[in-house]
Amino acid sequence: MSQTTQRQETDGRITEEQIAAGNRAYELDREHVFHSWSAQDQISPMTVLDAEGSWIWDGEGNKILDLASQLIFTNLGHKHPKVIEAIKEQAEKLCTVAPQHANDARSEAARLIVERLAGDINHVFFTNGGADANEHAVRMARLHTGRHKVLSAYRAYHGGTHLAINLTGDPRRFASDKASDGVVHFMPAYTYRSYFGAEDDKQEAERAFNHLRDVVMLEGADQVAAIVLEAIPGTAGIYLPPPGYLESVQQLCDEHGIVLIFDEVMAGFGRAGKWFAHQHFNVEPDIVTFAKGVNSGYVPMGGVAMDDAIYATFAERVYPGGLTYSGHPLAAAAAVAAINAMDDEGVIDHAQRLGAEVIGPRLEELKDRHPSVGDVRGVGAFWAIELVQDRETREPIAPYGQTAPVMNEIMAECRRRGALPFMNMNRLHICPPLNISEEDVLFGLDVVDEALRLADDVV
Ligand code: PLP
Repeated sequence: MSQTTQRQETDGRITEEQIAAGNRAYELDREHVFHSWSAQDQISPMTVLDAEGSWIWDGEGNKILDLASQLIFTNLGHKHPKVIEAIKEQAEKLCTVAPQHANDARSEAARLIVERLAGDINHVFFTNGGADANEHAVRMARLHTGRHKVLSAYRAYHGGTHLAINLTGDPRRFASDKASDGVVHFMPAYTYRSYFGAEDDKQEAERAFNHLRDVVMLEGADQVAAIVLEAIPGTAGIYLPPPGYLESVQQLCDEHGIVLIFDEVMAGFGRAGKWFAHQHFNVEPDIVTFAKGVNSGYVPMGGVAMDDAIYATFAERVYPGGLTYSGHPLAAAAAVAAINAMDDEGVIDHAQRLGAEVIGPRLEELKDRHPSVGDVRGVGAFWAIELVQDRETREPIAPYGQTAPVMNEIMAECRRRGALPFMNMNRLHICPPLNISEEDVLFGLDVVDEALRLADDVV
């Protein structure tokens, strides 16, 4: 057992007063706060008393490495001084302004965002987060095409609001399926669990695309307003599309006048080692939605970046939609500072290198050593470890849509040892802040390595 991953003791940063305040916060939380995606009486949320860089301090003062960037959004980690300073300055200058006015922070944020997107994407409609960005993207595509149907993939996540949860291709949408609102799901390209019997990426790209083409044909190509895709699906497993797949999807969309929407809410802003995940491929979407990493979540912000053709639809025609806090100056100032910091500090290249030279190779070692690890995959600071009962059959350690008890045990053990990845179904996701140090990420992977023994014991 490595000395480095013995239980993390408190490091003295947190005072008794802070711990007492945290205990009070926990009590009030349980009395008054309703949590997302949870049975309220079954949860015991971790209290966070402080955070800096890639580390957080829990309610007992324990220092824990955040391998999940919270919910995969603190791309610059916590307490980035330039982002904090920009928010403070903006608060003193002009704390808020309605969306109908022009504002320097908002304009500059829009300019910086479109500058990082290729093709003729030149305008941004700002939202409060990712789900509403997808809602508006689809509404724009429907008005642009005059069509209603929207296609999205199973094993994808697009948000928790009305349309976004219907676009979502995992069990979380079941409760609202009745209001599916013109959404049709298709099977994604996912080589490790190919729905098409493919044995390699080439076959998967071809077969998954043929399936999608058939779905478009059967639904009526002239009825389909948009195809919505995560260029690299995040919550559903960080599975990279096989080479050629996204390019074929774009061709299909171009042929039939279907709007191609890439949901880059999780994978964007450097997470995948490029400004946007789709930039790993030879594709130019019509619309890109974003949120999270745009300002590391310091102030809520999302948006819809659209190309000139979509924009032209609303040049002379009213766009029937808006949000009170669209392009909020505090969020926009944070975005400007975060984007500039990513550039100035070489954060995205760092994440790309860390993925290729440190995280990827270390996860491959884990896979060699742990029989419970079926697959490891990812890019940049965006990685998944998939746990299986049996490597041959690839049967997941938990049935689809469920969490095996051992997954919760692994998470508890990780926390005890001082590092927390993200968990979903039979997977652990390793998504640290992009600017994490090599030393810290190796510590986190040592923790995961040791916790994985619990899974080995049950397979
Ligand atoms: N789209 C993707 C790909 C996401 O990962 C998420 C959130 O995790 C969303 C949309 C929803 O974003 P939000 O929670 O900000 O509404």
